[in-house]
Amino acid sequence: MLNLVLFGAPGSGKGTQSAKLIDQYGLYHISTGELLRDHIARGTELGKTADSYISRGQLIPDELMTEILDDVLDKHASEKNGVVFDGYPRTIPQAEALKRLLRKRGSDLHAVIGLEVPEDELVDRMIKRGKETGRADDNLETIKKRLDVYHSQTCPLREYYKNEGKYIGVNGSGIVDEIFNHIAEGIEKATGRVPRSRHR
Ligand code: AMP
Repeated sequence: MLNLVLFGAPGSGKGTQSAKLIDQYGLYHISTGELLRDHIARGTELGKTADSYISRGQLIPDELMTEILDDVLDKHASEKNGVVFDGYPRTIPQAEALKRLLRKRGSDLHAVIGLEVPEDELVDRMIKRGKETGRADDNLETIKKRLDVYHSQTCPLREYYKNEGKYIGVNGSGIVDEIFNHIAEGIEKATGRVPRSRHR
C-alpha cells in the first residue's frame, strides 16, 4: 500500500505527474478538482455549489470537500495498491481530515510530494492551459485569486508535513520525465518503493 499526496500551487504540474505516478506505482488517482469539474459539466447540485466557489478562485468549504472524499474512498479505496491524492488536502483542517479518513480504514499517508515552481512560471503555464483546454478558471483574474488562496491557506501545509517528516520537496521546473525521476528518488528514500520501470 502506498498513499501519496501530490502537493503544489495551481499550475505546478500535479495532473501531469499524477498520471506518471498512477502508471508507475499502480495507484488510484483522486483529483478533487477533476471530480468537481465533472459535477459542473453534468450540472449536478454539487456541481452548482462547486462552480460558485471555483469561478471565484475560492476553495470549496472543508466539510463538504471532506464528505466528498470520504465517499470516493468508500467506493474506490481498496481497488488498487494505494492512492495518489491530487489537490487534496488544501488546508490544515483537510490534512487532519485525511489523516482521520485513512486511519479509519486502517491505513496511513506515506509521503507528500511538493512540486516547487516559481510563480511567474505558474502563471504562464495556467494561461497556456486555459487557451489549450478552455478551462474556465485559467484566466488571469481567477489565477491571481487562486494563487492568493494558495499562499494564505495551502502553503502552511508544507510546514505541517515537514513536521510530520513526510514532505519531499521536488523542483517542478524543467522536463516532465526528469521531474518524475526526482519524485521517484524521493519516494524510494522515504518508503523503499521503486517504480515499475525499475522492476525489470
Ligand atoms: P484543481 O484542479 O486542483 O486546481 O482545483 C480547481 C478548483 O477546485 C480549486 O481552485 C478549488 O476551487 C476547487 N478545489 C479542488 N480541490 C479542492 C480542495 N481540496 N478543497 C477546496 N477546494 C478545492
